[in-house]
Amino acid sequence: MTLITVIRQLQEKNAIPVQRMCVTCRYFDPFAHSQSDKPHHCHFVHAPFGQRELRVDCREHELADPTSRAATWDAFEAG
Ligand code: SF4
Repeated sequence: MTLITVIRQLQEKNAIPVQRMCVTCRYFDPFAHSQSDKPHHCHFVHAPFGQRELRVDCREHELADPTSRAATWDAFEAG
């Protein structure tokens, strides 16, 4: 289980305050470029980025609605 998974689970259970993570952001598009070494896409900056560049405290973060968050997480997990 990754740190991001743990933080997200705690956040979804309201056990910790909302974190400004890519995986809960309305701009996050996981594995939009799945054949690339920068598989994810940020629609805020309109650029791809890699797994190691996933943010956990991004100033530009905007919380996605719950349905979108769930769908994004499923896509992220499916990789
Ligand atoms: S705006 Fe920040 S938190 Fe949202 S996808 Fe882009 S880099 Fe991630």
